[in-house]
Amino acid sequence: MPRRNSNFPSVPLIATIDIGTTSARAILFSQEGQEIAKHQIEYSTTASEAPENSQNTEQFRRRSSLLRHDEPIFSAEGIAISITDNVEIENNKSSVGPTLRFPQPGWVECMPVHILANAVQCLIACLITLRKINQNPNLKVKYKVKCIGIANMRETTIVWSRKTGKPLSGGITWTDTRTAEIVQHLEKMIDEDRKAELKEKTGLPLSTYFSAAKLRWLLDNDDVIREEYEKGDGNLMFGTVDTWLIYNLTKEKSFVTDITNASRTYFMDLETHDYDDDLLDFWGIDPTRIQLPKIVSSSEHYGAFAPPNLSNLGFHNKITQEAYDILKTITGVPICGCLGDQSASLVGQLALKPGSAKCTYGTGCFLLYNTGTRKLISSHGALTTFGFWFPSLDGADGKPHYALEGSVAVAGSIIQWLRDNLKMISNAKDIGPLASQVANSGGVVFIPAFSGLYAPYWDRGARGTIFGMTQYTSSSHIARAALEGVCYQVRAILKAMGSDAGSSEDFMEEARTSQEDSQPLSQLATDGGMSKADEVLQIQADILGPCVTVKRAQTAECTALGAAIAAGVSFKNEEDRIWKDFDDVVAKITGNYDEASNTFKAELPDADRRKNWRRWEKAIERAQGWLDEDD
Ligand code: ADP
Repeated sequence: MPRRNSNFPSVPLIATIDIGTTSARAILFSQEGQEIAKHQIEYSTTASEAPENSQNTEQFRRRSSLLRHDEPIFSAEGIAISITDNVEIENNKSSVGPTLRFPQPGWVECMPVHILANAVQCLIACLITLRKINQNPNLKVKYKVKCIGIANMRETTIVWSRKTGKPLSGGITWTDTRTAEIVQHLEKMIDEDRKAELKEKTGLPLSTYFSAAKLRWLLDNDDVIREEYEKGDGNLMFGTVDTWLIYNLTKEKSFVTDITNASRTYFMDLETHDYDDDLLDFWGIDPTRIQLPKIVSSSEHYGAFAPPNLSNLGFHNKITQEAYDILKTITGVPICGCLGDQSASLVGQLALKPGSAKCTYGTGCFLLYNTGTRKLISSHGALTTFGFWFPSLDGADGKPHYALEGSVAVAGSIIQWLRDNLKMISNAKDIGPLASQVANSGGVVFIPAFSGLYAPYWDRGARGTIFGMTQYTSSSHIARAALEGVCYQVRAILKAMGSDAGSSEDFMEEARTSQEDSQPLSQLATDGGMSKADEVLQIQADILGPCVTVKRAQTAECTALGAAIAAGVSFKNEEDRIWKDFDDVVAKITGNYDEASNTFKAELPDADRRKNWRRWEKAIERAQGWLDEDD
C-alpha cells in the first residue's frame, strides 16, 4: 500500500480542457503555471473521405496520421507514468467512428460527442497521473484540483436536442466553407452602409467563419433540425464548443457561453454584451424556436463538475469503472473559466494590459492587440473581438477587455515551402541558422503572398514575389528575406491596429506616452512553432523598433494556461483565488522565466530600419494586383 500523505498541506491545481481544431488536451497547472500533468489526443479522421482540394488535403494529411490514444503522460514531479496506464476508455474505433469528417470538399465536421469523450479521457489521464503523484512517498504536499477552465476552437457550431441531449447533426467547424453561398448572397443584398452598421455592432466582416452562417445553413439544409425549429417547442439548442462542454460537464446542465466565444457568433452586440434582435433577424433566427445560451463573463462560477453519461449520448465505448471513479473525485469542482482559443492565448501570454499584443506564429499568424475597455472598430480591416472579461477583479481589470484581431496567411508555411519545394533546408529548425549566415537580406525582399494579402493590404490578386536579387544573392539571403516577409506583415498589422487604437503616429517612432487614452504597443508576446527560432524573434524586434519588446512565451501551452488563469481568478473572495490579481498572475507565472534568453530588443540602427521599411512598402505596392480579374 502506498503511504498516504493526506496530512500534508494541500496545493491547489487548475484543470484545463483545451479543445483545438485537430486535437484535445487537458493540463493540470500549478499556481506557478507549471504543468503537473498533461494528456493530449489527436482527433481521428476518416481516411476514405479525404477531400480533393489541396488546402483541405493538407489539413487532412496532418490529421490522419492519428488515432494516438497512447501519447505519453508526463509529470512535473519526474514520475514515470507508463503508457498502459492510459487505457481507460475501451477504444473500439469501429463502433465509434472518427472525430473529424470531411464529407465533401470544403466541409469539415466534428462529432460533438467524440469531442466531449476526448475531453473526458484527457481529464481522466491527468487525474490518474495526479493520483500517482500524490501517492509518491517523497512528496511533502498533496495536490488537489480546485477549479476547471476551458479553452476552445471558436465559431464551431453545434445543435442538439434538449430532450435527449444528443447532437442533431455533426458540428460545423470554423474552417468549413459550405456557407460560402449564403454569405455571398447576403453580401449582394446589402449596401456599404449596412455592412458598416453590422461591422460596428459585431466587429466582424461577413464571412464563412462565424457561427451565424453555419446555423443558417443547418436550418436551411438539415431536415431534422428544420422540423424541430418549425415545431418550436423549445427542444432545439444552439451552442459553440464551450457551451456544449459546459452543458455536458456541469451538474446543473448550465447553458452558457462566454463573451469571447459569443463575440464570434455574429449574433452579439459588442456594446450590450447580449444578443441583438436586428442581428438575429438579419440571419432569420427566431430565438423562441431555438434556445441560445446565456452570454456570461470569461471567469465566474458556471456550474459544478459532474461526469457526463457518454453512453446516453450514443457513445458506445465504455468508460471503465476505474476511470469513472477517478473522474468522480472532481465532482462538484467548479467550472469557472472559459475563453475562445485566441483570447485564451492572449491571456496565457500575459498580454493583460491595454497596449500589449500577442502573436502566434504557426502555419499562419494570429495577432491579438489588447485595447482595454475601449471598443475600437478598425478602419484597416482588423476584427474587433473580446479579449477577456474577469469581473471578480477590481477596477478596470474587471471590465470586459476588447481586442483587435488580424492574421497573416503565410507564416510557418513559408518555411515548409523553402524546405519541401526549394529543398533549401531539411528541417524547419534549420531556417534560423541559414538566415543568420548573413547580416541582412542583401537587398532582397520576399513577399510570401501565395494566396493574396490579408490585413491591412487586402489584395486577393497579389502573389508571392521576390524583389532585388543580384548575382550575389544566396540561399541565406532568400531565407532571411522570407522570414522578414512574415515579420514585416506582422508589423504592418500592428501598425494599423496601433493607429486604430489612437496612436497618432507610427508606434515605431513615438515615445510610449502619447495621447492619454491611446494604447501604443509596448510589448509583443509570441508563441507558436516559428517563435522557437531566436533569429525570427530578433528579426521581428529589429523590424518593430526600439519601442516594442518582443518576448517568447514562458510556456508552449499558452492557450490552456489562459483558461487556467480565467478559472483561477474567478472567485469573488480574494482568499479563495489561485491568483489575487493580474500582478500576482504575472509575478507567480514568470517567477522562473528566463528573461535574458526570451526577450528580444531592436539592435538595428533606426536609419536602416526606416530604409528597409520603405523598401518593403515599395515591394508591396509592386506585388499587388498581379492577377487579372479573369485569372
Ligand atoms: P500550427 O499550430 O499552425 O500547426 P505550429 O505552432 O505547430 O503551427 O508551428 C508550425 C510551424 O512552425 C511550421 O510551419 C514550421 O515551419 C515552423 N517551425 C517549427 N519549428 C521551427 C523552428 N525551430 N524554427 C522556425 N520555424 C519553425
